[in-house]
Amino acid sequence: MPFRTLGLDDRILRAVQEAGYTEPTPIQAAAIPEIVAGHDVIGIAQTGTGKTAAFTLPMLTLLAKRGTGEGKTRALVLAPTRELVAQIDENVRGYAKHLPLRVATVFGGVGENPQKQALRSGVDLVIATPGRLLDLMDQRCADFSALEFLVLDEADRMLDMGFLPSIKRVVKSLPKKRQTLLFSATLSRDIEALTKDFQYHPRTVEIGRRSNPAETVTQLVYEISKHLKPSLLVHLLKDPAMNMVLVFSRTKHGADRIARKLEQSGITSATLHSNRSQNQRLRALKAFKDGEVRVLVATDIAARGIDVDGISHVVNFDFPLHAEDYVHRIGRTGRAHAIGDAISFVTKEDYPTLRSLERFINRGIPRKVAEGFDYQAPAPKEDGGPRDRRPRRPEVRMDGTRADTAKRPRRRFGSGRRPN
Ligand code: AMP
Repeated sequence: MPFRTLGLDDRILRAVQEAGYTEPTPIQAAAIPEIVAGHDVIGIAQTGTGKTAAFTLPMLTLLAKRGTGEGKTRALVLAPTRELVAQIDENVRGYAKHLPLRVATVFGGVGENPQKQALRSGVDLVIATPGRLLDLMDQRCADFSALEFLVLDEADRMLDMGFLPSIKRVVKSLPKKRQTLLFSATLSRDIEALTKDFQYHPRTVEIGRRSNPAETVTQLVYEISKHLKPSLLVHLLKDPAMNMVLVFSRTKHGADRIARKLEQSGITSATLHSNRSQNQRLRALKAFKDGEVRVLVATDIAARGIDVDGISHVVNFDFPLHAEDYVHRIGRTGRAHAIGDAISFVTKEDYPTLRSLERFINRGIPRKVAEGFDYQAPAPKEDGGPRDRRPRRPEVRMDGTRADTAKRPRRRFGSGRRPN
């Protein structure tokens, strides 16, 4: 089915063609006509399915068709993380490049003033994380009285991150007569409740699930003592086939420690976690995408929704606590390599979690022993990094045990920021 049968504006079709897309993805083919027809839509789709264009293309078509908003914001997209906001922004600007529409982004971790000015200037489209947007709305910087579209992207993730109260407050102040589009990877009871509150007779579009990465990605486990994990990573990275490697750490400090260890061994890497400024995160991502660094060390939340092609290997430096995180992490790689596309380091404490995961994905993961690696090496002295080695989320593991019952570290003075 060609794009031109979907009812999109000609200028948008041109931009789509310039982006090199030849035909719509299944979620686009299903969602675009419904949205162009003016319906509220629930889209069940994951990142990587083309869902951003699925809501952006028809929304831009209707905005262009209806003319100007007389200096008022006409569309609001809410997304869980700064990275996702930046990614949607990049997409929207590409698709809207032949249209006279103005776009602004709003997210935490950077100065408020440019965002305030952009909001006050009445841009047509705002893409925002809920926390910072609320802050600015409380300061009366936004005028949504002429809003025509609300999009909730990755709604399930926003609920997981505790944004429900903020979202409710934002939506309360929006005009009732609007078109609301909600995208989520899953349709849980919480999501259904959200759609009942916010949507009017929504049409649900769901595409068949993508092939389960747990079935298509080559997976390997290295059983290893905790203190040897950094040296094993360095050892494995001697293989030149590991040319674009995403390493997952359970904590931000852990991610920094891994990066330091790599640096000591002459391997440059970039890190992606929420303690880093927005600019640092965007730079890290760019360095990784451009191939300036081979290794990107990330936490789950920071890596969520990020769209990077060509990752050769995913390394679970810390084994994930949840099966969903595992499947999500390993889904980042697609190429078959003899060494294993998805590599997990598993310590004794992880065994019960590993067994639950194997039950969940309905297959055993092969164990591997690293050739030429010294498994008997003694534990090194402290590397002098920050002390907090506890998992960030004291949660229940896949096997039902508590991952960490220790007291949470006290917040340091001045660190009381919103999560976005
Ligand atoms: P998303 O699921 O929105 O994160 O999109 C995943 C990737 O697919 C992005 O890099 C898009 O640029 C790309 N994409 C979106 N729609 C199409 C299409 N119809 N044909 C080819 N690529 C697409």
